[in-house]
Amino acid sequence: MGGDEDHPRFRRCICHPLRYQCAAMLWKRAVEMNHTLMDTVLACPNLPSLPAVAVHVLELTQDPNVKLTEIASTIQHDQALASKILRTVNSSYYGLRKGCGTISHALILLGLNPVKTLALGFGLVGTLKKGITDPFDHVSYWRRGLYTAVSAQCLASTVRCGEPEEAFLAGLLQDVGMVALYSALGDRYIEIMAQTQGDHRKLARAERDALDLTHPEVGAQLCEHWRLPASLVTPIRYHERPETATEEPIDIVRCVGIGNLIADVLTTDDPAPVFKKIYERCEAWFTLSPTESDEILSRAAEGTRELSRLFDISTGPYPDIENILDQANQALIGLSLSASQQADALSEQNAELQEQVNTDALTGAANRGKFNSEIVEAFQRARAGEKVAVIFIDADHFKSVNDTHGHLVGDAVLVELSKRLIEHFTDTGLVCRYGGEEFAVILPDVDRITAAKLAESAREKIASNPIDLSHVPDAPETVKITVSMGVSAMGPDTAAFFTDHTQLVNAADRAVYAAKQSGRNCVRIFKPKLKAAA
Ligand code: GH3
Ligand code: MG
Ligand code: MG
Repeated sequence: MGGDEDHPRFRRCICHPLRYQCAAMLWKRAVEMNHTLMDTVLACPNLPSLPAVAVHVLELTQDPNVKLTEIASTIQHDQALASKILRTVNSSYYGLRKGCGTISHALILLGLNPVKTLALGFGLVGTLKKGITDPFDHVSYWRRGLYTAVSAQCLASTVRCGEPEEAFLAGLLQDVGMVALYSALGDRYIEIMAQTQGDHRKLARAERDALDLTHPEVGAQLCEHWRLPASLVTPIRYHERPETATEEPIDIVRCVGIGNLIADVLTTDDPAPVFKKIYERCEAWFTLSPTESDEILSRAAEGTRELSRLFDISTGPYPDIENILDQANQALIGLSLSASQQADALSEQNAELQEQVNTDALTGAANRGKFNSEIVEAFQRARAGEKVAVIFIDADHFKSVNDTHGHLVGDAVLVELSKRLIEHFTDTGLVCRYGGEEFAVILPDVDRITAAKLAESAREKIASNPIDLSHVPDAPETVKITVSMGVSAMGPDTAAFFTDHTQLVNAADRAVYAAKQSGRNCVRIFKPKLKAAA
């Protein structure tokens, strides 16, 4: 791109490591935009122009050595403007303890920035008022502008970022692009606005679809054309999508972004979803609590009432703050609820995952891993005075099932066998697939005799009820199988014999071997030979 990175707009990019990426993004945006239309809009003779006093005040304030008296006399030159500024400075919005009679005095009391902002604000509002007439919905235009301005200012002064006055002006002027587009396109623009049915959040999309140009971009370029500072231009450019801003002043962009949400909350019928967004952004961007966010909202509503009178602009009916804050509360409950719902969903997912980790994929029985962890715990409990029994189960001549009917039928038999075992030991033990055609059952708090009886009844049922395979394609109706079982158990009387759980497991394994040796289809019990007490 050669010299593109030297373009002043690219140089303003603040995220240095990503500088070229940002430059590329900006370049893309610039290329995609409808330049012809932008040029037409900016050259439109009906376009509002910046009032002479405002231009002069701006020029003066850009000079670091300017004298306050010079600024005061420039403002005082326009009597109407001076008296509007003084009325505002003396209103409860600024809350000065003593009255203030002159612009010089106001400059001393409040400082340069608020007075400059008011001069610009009044100048621009005066100019724009001429452009915003029917059929343009001027009430909602000013309502959005003023609520955003006051909210952004409150927020900026609360979180002490940048100049609160800049946030105010940016909010007030954010939609100036709409006025420019209306001046240039007239009824065609009114038609585009009508498509959004009064939902301002849909406007930029409708503009892009119809014109390949949006009011934030037009507004930003108009302000550049007016030579307004970047501190105003950037928040205007990003006011609809503050989260995408990559240029300074990011904090002011964010204040204006949240200001827009507050304006939405104060003027919508269903504020709950917007509230969630306000709380989330206030927290993420400025670490403000919901209570602090509510406070800004109340102050914004009150301040807007005051300023709409002073600016002599209609912002429609005053919002019912109490009712709105009530709804905010509901949104807050929803917010924490959804956090706990998320936690629930997460623990459900974890439980599901855990289940998968512990389960044998073919049979649905617990797997070898689960057996290993459960046996350790059961053994420890048995050491502490409880009992535990282990039953090993090995299908007899299973190889011949595979050889005769095929591996798939062998699988189906294992699934059915597992089902029967799980059913049989439902109340007494955990059935695990130990490996291949071997199963193992851990029976907590079960003694050797009871375990042997349970094993024998299971063996008998399996032997006398052929496994039903009628649901398995290409399989015989039934397959007859038998199992060999080995039982080992540990209780207070045998605790001294088993020093760790592997001995208990090996004992059950040896008992199965004994059952195989005895001709299969039988149960054998491991009996520890305890040394006689001395
Ligand atoms: P014994 O009575 O001595 O236990 O004889 P056996 O045939 O059951 O024992 P052996 O250990 O010789 O063979 C085990 C067979 O079990 C061989 C193997 O193919 C089969 N088997 C192990 N796991 C699976 C499986 O997941 N699916 C199928 N279909 N067969 C399996
Ligand atoms: Mg907008
Ligand atoms: Mg076997």
